[in-house]
Amino acid sequence: MSTRDNVPADLVSELQTQFGDRCLLPSEARYSEAIAIWNGAIERYPAAVVQCENTADVVAALAAVTEYDIPFSVKAGGHMTTGHAIVEDGVVFDLTPIQDVDVDPDSKTVTVGGGATWDLVNAAALDHGLIPPGIPDAVGVAGFTLGGGMGVTGRMNGLACDNLRSAEVITAAGDVVTASENENEELFWAIRGGSGNVGIVTAFEFDCVEASRECLVANVLYPFDGATEYLNYFNKVAPDLPDETFPTAAVMTVPPIPDLPESLHGQPAVAGYVMGVGSGDDLKEALESFADFGDPHVAAVYPTDYTELYDPFEIPSGHRHHWESFYIDELHEAFIETLLAETFPTPTPQSNVAIYGLGGAINDVSRDATAYPHRDAQFAVHIQGHWLDEADDESCISWTRHLHETLREFGTGGEYVNNQTDTDEARVRAAFGENYDRLAEVKSKWDPEDRFRSTQHVELEFDR
Ligand SMILES: Cc1cc2nc3c(=O)[nH]c(=O)nc-3n(C[C@H](O)[C@H](O)[C@H](O)COP(=O)(O)OP(=O)(O)OC[C@H]3O[C@@H](n4cnc5c(N)ncnc54)[C@H](O)[C@@H]3O)c2cc1C
Repeated sequence: MSTRDNVPADLVSELQTQFGDRCLLPSEARYSEAIAIWNGAIERYPAAVVQCENTADVVAALAAVTEYDIPFSVKAGGHMTTGHAIVEDGVVFDLTPIQDVDVDPDSKTVTVGGGATWDLVNAAALDHGLIPPGIPDAVGVAGFTLGGGMGVTGRMNGLACDNLRSAEVITAAGDVVTASENENEELFWAIRGGSGNVGIVTAFEFDCVEASRECLVANVLYPFDGATEYLNYFNKVAPDLPDETFPTAAVMTVPPIPDLPESLHGQPAVAGYVMGVGSGDDLKEALESFADFGDPHVAAVYPTDYTELYDPFEIPSGHRHHWESFYIDELHEAFIETLLAETFPTPTPQSNVAIYGLGGAINDVSRDATAYPHRDAQFAVHIQGHWLDEADDESCISWTRHLHETLREFGTGGEYVNNQTDTDEARVRAAFGENYDRLAEVKSKWDPEDRFRSTQHVELEFDR
């Protein structure tokens, strides 16, 4: 008997035969755990989840759904707010058991399974004095890298996708191929920013940065009446900070955390958080000089371990989110004025607008060198609606959409594929920009039947 309307019973039986108790059906307790993703606002119910332990499992699962022409999705970390990791009424290929991490200290590379998360990769690489091109968080390596990947070492050494040496990819035809600068070059181009459109990646080989895990942070918080001045300052200073830094700012409501005086809790404010890889005197001086501005509530420069850099932003899985993003060349006055006027009141204390300072090695790569096209913008702006109660869905989603529509007018027209939640055609075109047509061409060659659909989907060349 079929468990969902779309999926024939014969396919379910075939998957059960192949995967045994690693084929999870809605009637089973482990199914709920397997379909749970980071964004708790997404509820989708696949007919089955197959837990893939290796490349052969993924090939077998793909062959089975292809035979029956049934929709499927690929789940790695399950962090993308769109929820594309989970397909409704189809089959989910859960890659999370493919988590092996292999560090090669001689070549300064790390090879990572397609279902791994960055915390596991960091744990293995940091012991060898290497920092992988990701983030100190349990976010999935696969989705992060396939969409570009703005990591802590981004300005120093490029996006995660820029540091990809090679990948093992399962194509729509079920072939297992290597993609690199020398093999299947167009496929390699497409997996570096084209998200899940062209294949399933079961292994990534990355270059790492040789650096100590000792880091420095500059952390500042300004009252709302100093926000314009601070954002003007951030606009001017962030691009010139050393490439070892990753500068961020946030327009936010002060959270009720014990480290901050109670009188600030719930107040509108602007924060700066600049992460620096290393602990040398020059870096320390640059961060101290950055933090020495205006009249802040808080201004501190302190050492921390690489793995703790993201601790202030840790959010448990299962909260509800609607994120949108865009790129902007400059935080000019009209933008700052509109940003501050429209953000407050935030619909919940957790909702905020985060600004990442880009540049450095990210922008040294040409716009057509990889599928990720946004190589000129100095800043990425992420509007992050975040709430806990389903009753707040409408107000939080409306806030995010309104802010995005209003503010992106100031932007380059581009959006970050990894921080989108709405994914209609206009959004997908904004994400892939001028590389959309080439991505469609590559997809038409490697996925001519358009099997890879549970992603920010690019229309095949001949369908357009
Ligand atoms: C707490 C948090 C912090 C973040 N911080 C940053 C940050 O600092 N910088 C940044 O750039 N981004 C950041 N992001 C965004 C992040 O890059 C995306 O959420 C990314 O998609 C996560 O990857 P994942 O593997 O967990 O995604 P999933 O949700 O598992 O998958 C995302 C997409 O990729 C496809 N996919 C997954 N695995 C594969 C595979 N092996 N082969 C082919 N397709 C696959 C899926 O089908 C889906 O379409 C953050 C997200 C969160 C939740």
